[in-house]
Amino acid sequence: MSFFCLPIVCGTRQWDKPYDPDPRLNSIYCPNCHNNSVGPVKRREFITLWFIPLFPIYWGKQLRCPICQWRQDFKNREQLQKVVNEQGNIHKGAGPM
Ligand SMILES: [Zn+2]
Repeated sequence: MSFFCLPIVCGTRQWDKPYDPDPRLNSIYCPNCHNNSVGPVKRREFITLWFIPLFPIYWGKQLRCPICQWRQDFKNREQLQKVVNEQGNIHKGAGPM
């Protein structure tokens, strides 16, 4: 009952670095767990073989909630700022645009 089996230890490894320490950008409302804990991160994710990073499968920027691990991609600073502005409107209540 023994099959030839190559022990390939394959996995992924990820790094998140803070994108901007600005507290306004790091207290965004999380639509998943409803905390104001979402912040932007620079994210790198690699396929690893025997724990050695081989090639990236993700390289970009994300909004991340450290509480529930909710994530969403964003492209650039303008898009991030737009999210923050929209959030500001939500917190102020529904006012005239
Ligand atoms: Zn969350």
